[in-house]
Amino acid sequence: MALVGLIGWRGMVGSVLLERMQAEGDFALIEPMFFSTSNAGAEVPASLAPLAQNETRLFDAYDVDALKRCDILLSTQGGDYTTEVFPKLRSAGWGGHWIDAASTLRMADDAVIVLDPVNLPVITQALARGGRNWIGGNCTVSCMLMGVGALYKAGLVEWMTTQTYQAASGGGAQHMRELLTQYGTLNAAVKPLLDDPASAILDIDRGFLQAQRGLDAQQTAHFGVPLGGSLIPWIDKDLGNGTSKEEWKGMAETHKILGLATPIPVDSTCVRVGAMRCHSQSLTFKLKRDVPLPDLQAMIAQDNDWVRLVPNTREATLAELTPVAVTGTMTIPVGRLRKLAMGPEYVGAFTIGDQLLWGAAEPLRRMLRILLGS
Ligand code: NAP
Repeated sequence: MALVGLIGWRGMVGSVLLERMQAEGDFALIEPMFFSTSNAGAEVPASLAPLAQNETRLFDAYDVDALKRCDILLSTQGGDYTTEVFPKLRSAGWGGHWIDAASTLRMADDAVIVLDPVNLPVITQALARGGRNWIGGNCTVSCMLMGVGALYKAGLVEWMTTQTYQAASGGGAQHMRELLTQYGTLNAAVKPLLDDPASAILDIDRGFLQAQRGLDAQQTAHFGVPLGGSLIPWIDKDLGNGTSKEEWKGMAETHKILGLATPIPVDSTCVRVGAMRCHSQSLTFKLKRDVPLPDLQAMIAQDNDWVRLVPNTREATLAELTPVAVTGTMTIPVGRLRKLAMGPEYVGAFTIGDQLLWGAAEPLRRMLRILLGS
């Protein structure tokens, strides 16, 4: 049975990954070793004990010798960890498979960005060539391709632009806590006024704004500014050319995932919003030719088992095309599909994905299954 090291299982992506692995029976196929960067030597938590089999203590996630014992390492710990540990492991001669959620290795020549419902041929070819580095894609890119990848595969896209609405969970567990804490503080600041039906709305509005602007450094430690009741139109590093790293990933990763030879322009404005979980995206396509809307609908709907075409009506949109409706589900709804006023080749769409599932955990556990040959 393959010895599989799990690093980062306590984090947001790691927690969702463990849930999915248990739901799909993955632990029956592996012997797990649980690693920790913060609590090495402790007993595996009670909730994981039934899964731990022979290895019941947390191993040190920086101990290269312990890591080297594993046939497969699956890390959802983050980019700094990968940057520090991965090169040491390879230079110590470890020849196992490395599966990772972090972006660190995504663009490396010997790494494949894994999203098998979209790019199984790319994965299979890399495996045949002896590939050993399997990296999950950026969450918005993976969810977008699960939704509208059919248009790219059909060679129809001349260019695409997306405006994203990305949830707090994209930043990890601590960001989610911060958002909810902010909401609590903001609500508390105006609760007496809210409870009084006769209070003036402008008093509530002023009290809310004052509370937002009054959030202290501790309450905004992770996002840097208030996010509750607001938004932040910048995600990830500043590349110094007017583009955020999150925006750069859109085109670079779309190309790499699809294995495209010819560049297709993809650009975006990536925005953090006060949603808890699920990344939403408003997409605009310029197609290479005028394709009838029913044909586009059919192509998208038939592309994979998880995409769901949402009728472009108010009722269906409100019922099925919100983060609240999609959170915790494997479904990738695509709605608001319509031809735009700019011309028959211009198409608009709106898609949402639980970015912790298809945008992070799911492609990793499916890659594990591919490696296990099951
Ligand atoms: P995260 O929730 O911050 O977890 C990362 C690590 O932080 C955990 O493994 C844990 O390590 C430590 N940690 C410290 N305080 C914690 C707390 N209060 N609760 C839980 N863990 C805590 O990060 P993440 O969102 O899972 O992201 C992990 C990697 O996946 C990153 O490289 C990220 O870029 C990538 N990714 C994330 C998403 C997403 O939507 N979040 C999507 C795609 C890819 P120890 O247990 O060792 O202390």
